Amino acid sequence: MGKKTTALEVIEKDIEAVYLGNLRTVEFDLDLPQKGRNGSMISWTSKDERFITSSGKVTRPAYGKGDRVIELTAMFGYDDETKYKTYEAKVLEEENDIQVAKIYPVVIKEQVGHYFYLPQVVSVKTKSDEVLAHSVVWNEEKMIYSEEGIYQVAGRLKDTDYCFVAKIEITEKIQTKNHRDKKADAFPLKSVRLTGNSMIKTAQDQQLKFLLSVNDDQMLYNFRKAADIDTKGAPAMIGWDSPDSLLKGHTTGHYLSALALCYAATGNRSILKKSTYMIDALNEVQLAFENDPNYHYGFISGYPEKQFDLLEEYVPYPQIWAPYYTLHKIFAGLLDSYEIAGIDRALTIADKLGDWTYARLSRLSHDQLKKMWGMYIAGEFGGMNESLAELYRLTQKKEHLKAAMLFDNDRLFFPMEQKIDALGALHANQHIPQIVGALKIYEVSDLEKYYQIADFFWNSVTSAHIYSIGGTGEGEMFQQPNVIGKKLDEHTAETCASYNMLKLTKGLFQYEPTSDKADYYERTMLNHILSSADHEGIGGSTYFMPTNPGAQKGFDVDNSCCHGTGLENHFKYGEAVFFSDPEALFINLFMSAHLQDEKTGLDVELIADEAIPEMVTINVNHTDRNLKIRKPYWSKTVVITVNGKKKAVVEADNYLFVEVSSGDRVIVNFKITYRFEATADVPELVSIAYGPYILAILDDQSEYLTFSKDPEALKKIVKSAESLDFSMGKMKLKPLAQVNHEHFHLYVKMV
Ligand SMILES: [Zn+2]
Repeated sequence: MGKKTTALEVIEKDIEAVYLGNLRTVEFDLDLPQKGRNGSMISWTSKDERFITSSGKVTRPAYGKGDRVIELTAMFGYDDETKYKTYEAKVLEEENDIQVAKIYPVVIKEQVGHYFYLPQVVSVKTKSDEVLAHSVVWNEEKMIYSEEGIYQVAGRLKDTDYCFVAKIEITEKIQTKNHRDKKADAFPLKSVRLTGNSMIKTAQDQQLKFLLSVNDDQMLYNFRKAADIDTKGAPAMIGWDSPDSLLKGHTTGHYLSALALCYAATGNRSILKKSTYMIDALNEVQLAFENDPNYHYGFISGYPEKQFDLLEEYVPYPQIWAPYYTLHKIFAGLLDSYEIAGIDRALTIADKLGDWTYARLSRLSHDQLKKMWGMYIAGEFGGMNESLAELYRLTQKKEHLKAAMLFDNDRLFFPMEQKIDALGALHANQHIPQIVGALKIYEVSDLEKYYQIADFFWNSVTSAHIYSIGGTGEGEMFQQPNVIGKKLDEHTAETCASYNMLKLTKGLFQYEPTSDKADYYERTMLNHILSSADHEGIGGSTYFMPTNPGAQKGFDVDNSCCHGTGLENHFKYGEAVFFSDPEALFINLFMSAHLQDEKTGLDVELIADEAIPEMVTINVNHTDRNLKIRKPYWSKTVVITVNGKKKAVVEADNYLFVEVSSGDRVIVNFKITYRFEATADVPELVSIAYGPYILAILDDQSEYLTFSKDPEALKKIVKSAESLDFSMGKMKLKPLAQVNHEHFHLYVKMV
């Protein structure tokens, strides 16, 4: 041997000698060598330990979740030399081993001479009693019938041998539209001001202060960078918006919405100035893209258009993240800036972006769209359908409504049309905005199916998928109906999900103003949304709200989704306190707030001391209508006095109808008792509640605290006269919103 082999050469030989098998189809554990053939030491790291650990153990994604490409990095070391090599391994999803007990009948009603597609999924019940939406392969998918009659089409559950037949009813004409008038109108946010001292007011004040401190140029950084214009020396964004993140730009969208909401809620002129600055700057960004031949007309985002090309080529996450999700936040921010803050230019930008979206998507086939939207994470699109339908309302361009409907998602919508709760195993916050979008499409089109989808969804979620604080989902996912007590852990109740559920609730309430919607709104707003705010005023928000024993809140500041909705949340408290119909003013929430509405001339003040939820005073300064006061689920007896005199009131559907005239002073007294709220599936696991508040017990033990099931035991709880501090012996309790970093228990075990 002549030349001496160098360390680097040893490493290179060893790198060449490593063979890990076929990494394009990984099903079994990988043998990751710790030592090279020529003696170098190898250590491994995995980009996602859930699917491949650094020791090579493989866990395949569940069926239907899609294959995952995982990066493995090996560090080779010999003497003083080291070298890295990265491998990509595709872990295949598990085979379908579903055991089907029942396929729910599929009945499709269509009209003669009309093209239609069969749904991509059907609802099935498994032998273990789980209900879910399952992909289908049809004999034919797109069809048209020229004569009336009953037809049949055969289908098979994808990747199984289960076959079935769908019934197609073809008639000359079918009724698809059904107009509903709104029965209760919401007031513009600017007509309602929070007053007095309360946790709600504090949360709003703190968030206002935080928004004032935000560097607008930093919020514009990703956009200016993407459009290749001057970033004005601003620092880069962090977290999910950092330069190497593929979701960058979404926080800026939330920020636009937050500024608009904040301006409406507080009237702060500096906030309006920031809002205007942002929109002007984004207009420049859009124009810069317009002048770049590599971009299509109307595009604007915090990253290049390339991400959208890749989605159309089905490139999976994490090579791309959800480009339309980000786009929706920008859309929503622009529309809010126009509609809530009154900045006209924001609509011009949104209008062009709507044109871009239609041009981009209308050229794709039905199959391609369905495949894109079905892609895990990559295909997530937020509430694109909501923004586009709202844009259509403003522009009346048919293309914008058509674009909204290109986001129809069978997996979510079809079971809802069948009135089947097949939400289990669907991502909660991915899908709630799509339902908000369905309701918006109904609003602008009168297409009844979209209303039915939204209404059934709301009833399903609020009746069988929520924790006592109103939040939903575990590990971000919907569970099977009434699986609540079995899923109390650190990863429950993503805050965004409640943000979106409240939006849906407010929308549905206007069509069908029932007390259960207002009850749910109050429960979720006071116990989840208000509890998500950090107490130091750093703009932080909880991601999950843990429900395990001895839990602790964590406040996100690194531009996550919940941080984004968290920027908006605390300016929305005023938007669902009051609603009106021609005869009555609805009083839905009991907090200190002042309604002064230009359009109706209504001037009504609510005065509440949050430490004493037993009473609220209503000063009717000016009115041309009577009051409909919600009788909340937490008070069986409500006593009303008008100008000092006890008044007998008419009660209907949990609303108390009170005749008033301008100048009246109404006092509402609620009788409140402590109560248990049991989980449906584990009845001994209960929350303790007082009036509208779910009480957190302060204790850091990680086992469930026990509580006597004798209802008399609740009477031993003592409330402080001037605050919402409660105690029972050594046990300290308070509303979850007042808990900051302390460990707490939202559920106790009854014994
Ligand atoms: Zn979130």
